[in-house]
Amino acid sequence: MTSERVSTQSGGTPDQAGEVEEGNLSLRVADPSDAAAMLAVIREAFGARPKVDPPPAYLSDTAEQIAASLATAPGVIAELVDDHGHRQVVGCLLMTLDGDLAGLHRVSVLPGHRLAGIAEAMVRGAVELATDLGATRLELLSRREFPATRNWWERHGFHAVREVPTGFVMQRGLPVRVEVPDTYAMRRLGRRLARVLRGGDVVIASGDLGAGKTTLTQGLGAELHVASPIISPTFVLSRVHRPLGDGPGLVHVDAYRLSSPAELEDIDLDATLADSITLVEWGAGLAEGLAPSWLDVDIRRSGDPDDETRIVYVVGTGPRWDDVDLTPLAVDAPEPGDAASATETTTDEGTRA
Ligand code: ADP
Ligand code: MG
Repeated sequence: MTSERVSTQSGGTPDQAGEVEEGNLSLRVADPSDAAAMLAVIREAFGARPKVDPPPAYLSDTAEQIAASLATAPGVIAELVDDHGHRQVVGCLLMTLDGDLAGLHRVSVLPGHRLAGIAEAMVRGAVELATDLGATRLELLSRREFPATRNWWERHGFHAVREVPTGFVMQRGLPVRVEVPDTYAMRRLGRRLARVLRGGDVVIASGDLGAGKTTLTQGLGAELHVASPIISPTFVLSRVHRPLGDGPGLVHVDAYRLSSPAELEDIDLDATLADSITLVEWGAGLAEGLAPSWLDVDIRRSGDPDDETRIVYVVGTGPRWDDVDLTPLAVDAPEPGDAASATETTTDEGTRA
């Protein structure tokens, strides 16, 4: 990537954008000329922390070193933009790249702007950048003195992989990136997805209207061999598709009209959660609490309106996915039942926006 993706408005859901109160948050890829502004944010952010021993490396950072880092690997800058278009740098981070391992460094948010979703947005941007640059894992060091920070990283999918003298090295897997040229390829991706899923799994599907969430679910349902056609559940909130064979059933939820996790709880998914695969369209920010682990499937359109290609990012969060290799999802191949499933579902297509 694609500086454009990070430079667009951050906060994919209205919810996340709402967390930032004092203006609109805008993320962009840093370039070496940002080094001085970044150094100022790093000093202020880390300077507000209690002193630690041994002293952290940031104390000796210089603008030259930051510029040199930005010349070899990307960095992310978060700016608040007020009504007059005035921009204030409120956060930044640096990255390193070593083969398929990307590192996060100096993740900094100005003290007055903590808890505003800024760090979260920057980490999302870094995840996208690292993924597009071919990394498969993202790593950082969490200082032993700051257990709250370690908890924050854990809530964002990182887990400690080893202890070092100053703290813990934490890692998370990066999304698998899948290029999906057309409707049939999206159904095939749904089939491949079904093969890595088992009863009890939760899938959170994101992407704007018409992105292909329901189309993907159709492939999933075809491979799972479940009853009743998969159509958009928009007007019923959720549909239970019972298994026709021995495998798990599919619960297909549409959270488009829901605005809080509590409203999702009202649908009472508990009865089916343990044994079925639960897929929640529009579930980002709402469905993460359903189970300790979940799989995010984020569907993006290409920048070109004449190109129907979708880019799909798949990543697991939580212990269920720690050791699961999702890379086979990116390998498309003809499916034996493909022609049949294509005809079966053509009738649904006209009904979809
Ligand atoms: P959503 O559930 O995300 O709102 P749908 O799956 O209902 O989206 O609709 C996606 C529409 O886009 C369908 O009409 C589908 O045929 C069409 N389409 C075109 N190209 C693709 C593609 N590459 N992947 C998925 N759907 C595509
Ligand atoms: Mg849909």
